Amino acid sequence: MIPSLRLQQISASVTVALNSKVVEMKAGGEDIIALNAGEPDFPTPAPIVEACRTALAEGKTKYINNAGLPELRKAIAHRLAADHHVRYTPQQICVSTGAKQALNNAVFAVVNPGQEVIIPIPAWVSYVEIVKLAGGVPVLVPCSEVDDFRLDLLAIRRAITAKTVAILINNPHNPTGAVYSKEDLVELANIALQHNLWVIADEVYEKLIYHKAHHTCFSALSADAYGRTILVNGFSKAYSMTGWRLGYTAAPLALAAGIDALQSHMTSNATTFGQYGALEALEPHNDRGIEQMRLQFEARRDYMLHRWQQIPGIYIAPTQGAFYFMPNISAYFGKSTPAGTKIETSADLCTYLLEEGKVALVPGEAFYAPYHLRVSYANSMENLQRGMDRAEAALSKLL
Ligand code: PMP
Repeated sequence: MIPSLRLQQISASVTVALNSKVVEMKAGGEDIIALNAGEPDFPTPAPIVEACRTALAEGKTKYINNAGLPELRKAIAHRLAADHHVRYTPQQICVSTGAKQALNNAVFAVVNPGQEVIIPIPAWVSYVEIVKLAGGVPVLVPCSEVDDFRLDLLAIRRAITAKTVAILINNPHNPTGAVYSKEDLVELANIALQHNLWVIADEVYEKLIYHKAHHTCFSALSADAYGRTILVNGFSKAYSMTGWRLGYTAAPLALAAGIDALQSHMTSNATTFGQYGALEALEPHNDRGIEQMRLQFEARRDYMLHRWQQIPGIYIAPTQGAFYFMPNISAYFGKSTPAGTKIETSADLCTYLLEEGKVALVPGEAFYAPYHLRVSYANSMENLQRGMDRAEAALSKLL
């Protein structure tokens, strides 16, 4: 029996697979320090958990409106207006099973088979696969670390063909930690206007920006940008709610109706009682707790950057958001491990660091960045310190 072409074309998520391996090694009694996590290490704030518990106790366990709890859609619209001065009605919001489903909805809503979607790389693992699943053609446009991984607008222009239908951006950025400037985003909006393209803007790390960085919401740029943007966001990262599986799209009204219809056949509403937790998360009285988490990420970022910068041969482009950055580790290519194995790829280096140093990092190949690896600082300061001691010691043994 032969699986579908669609299945043959996609690859499993490397980050999810690696995480499973780390979980397995830990379960086997090994003391692994995870610098690979794609989720905050904090518990979901108590008031959010409590709101969900109450919803369960009150029997909020049935189907609800496919596009989400009306109060939650209203609260999301309200929050977007308050935070970014961008106006959406609740009808334009569709609550989904994580930002991941919101992204799938967005891509399936605008991409026809054979049409091209521009994806700046490095890029989060799932973008390319989601576009392929929709029958689209991912067109990968490199961003250079020499330019701090900012968008290469000239390269994006050059990559546009008659088949291009959309540009998919992630700001703040996983895996580089880049935060795009307003000027670059305005220019990207001009490009989208000139070529009549959709922009899928994944802003799931919006709240995690550090020091003087400023987040610019793409649909808030102009009336034209608003009309061609599908905003993707969610609760996983800012509110430490990864397991709740709650995200959303905000889109022009006609497209939002299409996304609603699409989701009605895919999954129906995201988990009902969880949406009461999300509603609580958006209450302004929780902002302080959320800010406390952000401040801790900021301190960890500073510490981790400092540690990596001390390691010989490592270069790191400036990073301002999310909880990741990408050291360039190509100086270690060609070196040998104490066991005599040659390091030829980022994956080799990560395998060595996991087996020898008992520290988990993600190979850059997973993000179309073969000369880098991805560091996550979503771990306690104590673990980050131990992890860096181990990584540094293991790297120093390579000759
Ligand atoms: N977009 C990006 C850039 C991400 O890093 C992630 C999670 N790793 C997602 C979307 C998916 O988020 P969620 O868990 O809400 O599905």
